[in-house]
Amino acid sequence: MARACDLPDIHGHFGSYGGVFVAETLFTALEELLIQYDRYRNDADFQMEYANELKSYVGRPSPIYHAKRLSAHLGGAQILLKREDLNHTGAHKINNAIGQALLAKNMGKSRIIAETGAGQHGVASATVAARYGMECTVYMGSEDMKRQEPNVYRMRLLGATVVPVDSGSKTLKDALNEAMRDWVTNVENTFYIIGTVAGPHPYPMMVRDFQAIIGREAKLQMQEEYGRQPDKLIACVGGGSNAIGLFFPYLEDKNVDMIGVEAAGLGIESGKHAATLLTGKPGVLHGNRTYLIQDEDGQIIETHSISAGLDYPGVGPEHAWLKDTNRAQYVGVTDDEALAAFHMLCRYEGIIPALESSHALAYAAKISPTLDKEKLLLVNLSGRGDKDIDTVSQATGTIF
Ligand SMILES: *Cc1c(COP(=O)(O)O)cnc(C)c1O
Repeated sequence: MARACDLPDIHGHFGSYGGVFVAETLFTALEELLIQYDRYRNDADFQMEYANELKSYVGRPSPIYHAKRLSAHLGGAQILLKREDLNHTGAHKINNAIGQALLAKNMGKSRIIAETGAGQHGVASATVAARYGMECTVYMGSEDMKRQEPNVYRMRLLGATVVPVDSGSKTLKDALNEAMRDWVTNVENTFYIIGTVAGPHPYPMMVRDFQAIIGREAKLQMQEEYGRQPDKLIACVGGGSNAIGLFFPYLEDKNVDMIGVEAAGLGIESGKHAATLLTGKPGVLHGNRTYLIQDEDGQIIETHSISAGLDYPGVGPEHAWLKDTNRAQYVGVTDDEALAAFHMLCRYEGIIPALESSHALAYAAKISPTLDKEKLLLVNLSGRGDKDIDTVSQATGTIF
């Protein structure tokens, strides 16, 4: 069997997942991307420039922080946080956006496009477009634009054109179709930045490689600061990019458990959730084969999560494979559990976490009391929660 860290194969397969399922018109664009990415991922100058950007623009390395008061309160295993919330723009998404924008620049593309649901990936794309002096168009469902107004304004401040998409359900999947259409038409000068480990090959591999800086740093920092590696890695899973970024460098470290936390929304039984790996079945969506939340006829079912970034009916194909091979374990955390963890981190550590990241925290808080005090749980704090305070105040009120 292939070693986990050697995947995907040359066709982009992680076991039976991944691959390239697109219209013929997109093949040329993907082929060009694959060849160029293959060239630059092995290019010392490119990697050096990427590393410099992460340092001077993003603010890496992000520290590992020991949440001592929270750990003492829970009374069990120690909770450590990988502070992706401290990155420029407040989340891990910038690691990938910078990498793809640099690739675009090296490929001689003058224009980038992106699709966005909650607006976080749109903001990261608009940010790097401004940074490198590129034109930027972001496709966004008109329904999402209403729900995420501050992010639409941020993108416009950064100089991006935000195009409302009025087809279908007017949300993320419709925006994605529009972005694909734009790419096919303008491939000559345009680079399409995908925001998570989804889409056709080579995107799941490429996005993972850019996010793997999280796990590589963590490995060094754990050795230096704690003299050993954590017992468990815990990260939330929407498309799965922050989770695979932390997990990937640890895949061959068999003593390190990996736990991906999906959004169980109002509870798995309610049907209103986004727990793809827990409840979905394999199928094809957005150019790759993976687990999907679908009905008997293969129709995608609408998902729900209090956190917009986890509200996606698919998941990266590498996670599908890690689940089937039992290398990683996947669990669900409800809206209410995530909210409780959100408040706990605010009060015990003075850190306002993103609602997405609060899902990972909630699971750590759940298992910590059952574990020995010497055990180390490394939680990926994928983003900061400033963007979520309105959602939180609507859900819990303003009185504590
Ligand atoms: C977008 C987002 C996520 C979910 O995306 P992944 O690809 O699963 O990492 C998680 N946390 C934050 C803060 C996000 O913005």
